[in-house]
Amino acid sequence: MTQPQRALVIGAGFGGLALAIRLQSGGYQTTLLEKRDKPGGRAYVYEDQGFTFDAGPTVITDPSALEEFFRLADKHMADYVELLPVTPFYRLCWEDAPAFDYVNDQAALKLNAEVASIETAGDQVSGVTLTDGRHLPTDALASNADVMHTYSRLLSGHSRGTRQAKSLGRKRFSMSLFVIYFGLDRPPQGLEHHTVCFGPRYKELIDEIFNADTLAEDFSLYLHSPCVTDPSMAPEGCSAHYVLAPVPHLGKANIDWETQGPIYRDRILDYLERHYIPGLREHLVTCRHFTPLDFREELNAHLGSAFSLEPILTQSAWFRPHNRDAKIDNLYLVGAGPIPAPGCPA
Ligand SMILES: Cc1cc2nc3c(=O)[nH]c(=O)nc-3n(C[C@H](O)[C@H](O)[C@H](O)COP(=O)(O)OP(=O)(O)OC[C@H]3O[C@@H](n4cnc5c(N)ncnc54)[C@H](O)[C@@H]3O)c2cc1C
Repeated sequence: MTQPQRALVIGAGFGGLALAIRLQSGGYQTTLLEKRDKPGGRAYVYEDQGFTFDAGPTVITDPSALEEFFRLADKHMADYVELLPVTPFYRLCWEDAPAFDYVNDQAALKLNAEVASIETAGDQVSGVTLTDGRHLPTDALASNADVMHTYSRLLSGHSRGTRQAKSLGRKRFSMSLFVIYFGLDRPPQGLEHHTVCFGPRYKELIDEIFNADTLAEDFSLYLHSPCVTDPSMAPEGCSAHYVLAPVPHLGKANIDWETQGPIYRDRILDYLERHYIPGLREHLVTCRHFTPLDFREELNAHLGSAFSLEPILTQSAWFRPHNRDAKIDNLYLVGAGPIPAPGCPA
């Protein structure tokens, strides 16, 4: 009798889990090793005093990718999880301008943009849809050309939407968000409500996050409030929130996160309390923060980076690390770092 072929997967993040399911369903006897106490990786879920906190992803742009894995394991996703369409996709808030709801309806989008006094890239966005790179051969330059072409149009300003966006910082931000998380041109799904809060210095701030070697005094925040559509995330009468503040990675800025983490957390709580959630600290039941140091120590993330390589042209598609290792036979890389990345689809 022939022995089944065996496979070893290291890391039970979305990448490792997806690969393990594929291998097991393809007849490989698969072992999955994980460093932490449970799977999830960046999508880890913390449970604390009746609250459930997502640690990472908040929107799913491609539910069919998840459905496929359930199918491979002879299961139905609907038996385990219910995905709801999210509307608006997100709400952009500035201190000095009305909020802007990004919705999947051109007429409403135009109206929202008028109210917020910004031009929207809405009708242009559909013209720069990204190609789904999940099924690209890992090391074939030709098959990545389409993705690279789209990226280059976006990044060099050749597309109408991007060119116009460059003239207006606010709009450019909504474009960038769309490209990173909603670029597959499908309605995002999840169980959440999202708000992106920009301080008055959002353009300079992004430049500082990527280029300065200190922590900026101000911040732009991503606020995720899942209880809006899923009250089970918190005990009755309570709600759970997570807030994401982009900061430099450990290779860029020498920040003492042991000391600075709690100080930065308190400044964020103070900001949220003043602008969005009155009485927040008075009613706080539990709170945890996760810094680049934790990304490095807990997840073995290179330089404590939350999102792996920045998706600029020279680090996208074929230019990203390839899935097949160049030196070691039968060693493959998956997940947020290598092709196709970024995001959850694996
Ligand atoms: C805050 C945040 C918000 C995000 N929001 C979204 C979103 O809304 N939508 C979206 O599509 N994507 C989002 N992402 C991106 C998405 O979460 C990641 O791309 C994806 O989860 C990465 O999966 P991965 O398997 O590549 O890596 P990881 O999730 O990091 O998994 C790697 C696993 O390997 C384990 N490990 C490491 N070293 C070892 C070792 N030596 N031995 C054993 N195990 C090891 C780690 O513990 C970890 O569990 C977000 C990410 C973050 C951080």
